[in-house]
Amino acid sequence: MWIAIAIIAFLLIALYLSAHYNWWRPKVDENYPRVLMYHSINRSVEGIAPDLVVSPEAFETQLQYLNKNGYKFYTISELLEAKSTGKAVVLTFDDGFRDNFTEMFPVLKRHNAKATIYLAPDIEGIERLDQHQIIHMRDSGLVEFGAHTMHHVNLDKAESGVAFAEINESKAVVEQLTGLACKAFAYPFGRFNDETVEQVKKAGLSSAVSVKKGIEQVTDPFRIKRISVLGSTNSLQFHLAITRGRYRV
Ligand SMILES: [Zn+2]
Repeated sequence: MWIAIAIIAFLLIALYLSAHYNWWRPKVDENYPRVLMYHSINRSVEGIAPDLVVSPEAFETQLQYLNKNGYKFYTISELLEAKSTGKAVVLTFDDGFRDNFTEMFPVLKRHNAKATIYLAPDIEGIERLDQHQIIHMRDSGLVEFGAHTMHHVNLDKAESGVAFAEINESKAVVEQLTGLACKAFAYPFGRFNDETVEQVKKAGLSSAVSVKKGIEQVTDPFRIKRISVLGSTNSLQFHLAITRGRYRV
């Protein structure tokens, strides 16, 4: 009897760990680019889901891991324009949190890494980057700025005219803020449809990232998959995410 219970308990624990860590997934080709998704880098941010907030210490450990394992950092447009990249990683940050300057940028510089920040200029409910901070990061040559709609809207649900205006205007405002062409876009909430893709192209953008999980060779630059790094992601999970593309079922 007790042996049966022990065996069942062991199997349940093994099943849980397998589902949680995905160690059994095959490794992804190391020459496929890793596009990571972050939001806030901070200790904690009021009103923001804890999983969207990665501590500066964890972020630093992740950059150390990437450098130690021979990954080269690119911005999203550099990656798409490069002829050959080798082991490539793109760090993306959605929404334009102020802490991307105060907390993330110092760590980025220390590790000579690069980032792509997608700004939603009129997003509500977060402390946003100001233009001075944006210019400072632009001048470092380490940060590309992309667009993320004006108000962080669900483009799959928005009326067609509204959706296009949100995309087009955010591109124009990012260009005003940076003084540079804005080529990159991120779909808010990862929500889009075929018409959204056409609108992003029509606005003159050259790429768009989704929240679909995975690592692959980029064949469609308007449906780029990403790996989300969360506040709860531990070092083992980060390693599995980088090598396997995901760490949870
Ligand atoms: Zn967002």
